[in-house]
Amino acid sequence: METKEFHYRAYRPRPFTKEERSKTTILFGGLTWKHERLIQGSLERMGYKSMPLPNIERQDLDIGKEFIDVGACCPTTFTAGNLARTLMTLREREGEEGVKNNYLFVTIGACGPCRFGQYHESYERVLEGLNLTDFRLFLLDLLQMEQSAPGGGLEISMPLTFGLVYSMFYGDLITDMEYAIRPYEVVEGSTDNMVRESVELLYERLKNRPIKGKKIDSLIWHVFTGYFVDALKEVRRLWDEIEVDRLRVKPKVKITGEFWLQTHEGDGNYNIKRWLEKEGAEVIPPPVAVWMDYLINMELFKLEDAKGFVKKYYLKKLAIGTIAGLYKMVYNRLRKALNNIPNPLPDQRKLKELARPYFHYRLTGGEGHMLIGKALYAYLNRQAHMICELSPYGCLPNTMSVGAMAKVLGDYPDLLYAPIEIKGDAEVHAYSRCQMILTEAKRRAKEEFEEVLERTGLTVEDIRNFEEDHPELRRATYKVPHYGYAGTASNYAMHIAKLMGRI
Ligand code: SF4
Repeated sequence: METKEFHYRAYRPRPFTKEERSKTTILFGGLTWKHERLIQGSLERMGYKSMPLPNIERQDLDIGKEFIDVGACCPTTFTAGNLARTLMTLREREGEEGVKNNYLFVTIGACGPCRFGQYHESYERVLEGLNLTDFRLFLLDLLQMEQSAPGGGLEISMPLTFGLVYSMFYGDLITDMEYAIRPYEVVEGSTDNMVRESVELLYERLKNRPIKGKKIDSLIWHVFTGYFVDALKEVRRLWDEIEVDRLRVKPKVKITGEFWLQTHEGDGNYNIKRWLEKEGAEVIPPPVAVWMDYLINMELFKLEDAKGFVKKYYLKKLAIGTIAGLYKMVYNRLRKALNNIPNPLPDQRKLKELARPYFHYRLTGGEGHMLIGKALYAYLNRQAHMICELSPYGCLPNTMSVGAMAKVLGDYPDLLYAPIEIKGDAEVHAYSRCQMILTEAKRRAKEEFEEVLERTGLTVEDIRNFEEDHPELRRATYKVPHYGYAGTASNYAMHIAKLMGRI
């Protein structure tokens, strides 16, 4: 009898050729709609047709469970389900051949102990489940400036990589502005309108940006050009028009947690940021840029660990240190164009040091030591009244970080910390847990504000009167310095007191 042997064969996508570019749409997803719209601008500038996946919805979790390992972490299930839903919709509209030939999906990957290194495996299960194994799915390396997919149709060149980096920076900065302003807007809806207008303006700038050189000349131009800064100055002029009332006393909540969950805005994390705002809080959203900064600095830390064994150690250290320095420099230039309203990126060395007694930085996977470092940094520097940490169901790295946080809380019992497990279908439980800590954070914000009024001898009426003579103080783009208080209203009252010569 003839026997056949079946071997596991890794998925290999069909090639994507240059000739196919003009009629093939690149699908991508995983970030906020703002980041994705901006990425679209960068891709279109390089001649690619592109389309972000629809925003994650609750149904994606159920669809994802049908196709992939039931033990997969919540972000993997959501994103795999989202891809499946998209492909099913496209198949209905354009038929099987249409989906296979007119679209392809690009995602990023990394190796590591968590499922992030295996996302594409889940996506492959989706293709198998849908009987679309001929559909093309390309995995790109997060840390490569230049790479290409089989067939040469998709080439990640320096100009495209830098376009994507600026898309990420722009998306982060607009999101930071959004969350800093919306809780204080005088006209409801003005911030959301401005976010849409700003994203469209920046999309146009990215789509029409000049391409200067291909290699080192491209790098120099992207680092030092005023093109991207000027676009943000235009955005700032738009935001100047929004009026805010910073005397609303609100607890400030810093969001930390797993990368996808913390940056996501939608059903995937119970829309927790919007929910917190509705409950009267101001949210500090996490920028995507911190993650890249973490990866760059980890290369530096690893190199330092191996100092005695590395050839040309100082040269390599200089090279990585320069990249890390330029990365921050560009981000800060862009922040400055928005009058430094968006938060700076945290110092990765400081995060590592703060987390050191609790979590070894070489334990990578998920957010690694950053989760602890960021919580402690916000607490010790009075940046937030409370930390809301989003932990995905089924995530091993996060389980370790949350475990380590128990010791942190033992050492800093005053730190308000709400670890929220996100399963995708238990929002009532998550909200009520968050609510408990938020109640205490509200009390602290109020107490803090009263302390400031007592310290400065000001009343709310005094501040209102001063505002009448200085209407610029009520502009969204007016920068209020940090006076060592977590709350916006407290720092604002301190600032007025300083302007009045009371402190
Ligand atoms: S960090 Fe956790 S939630 Fe995120 S991909 Fe890895 S295992 Fe999944």
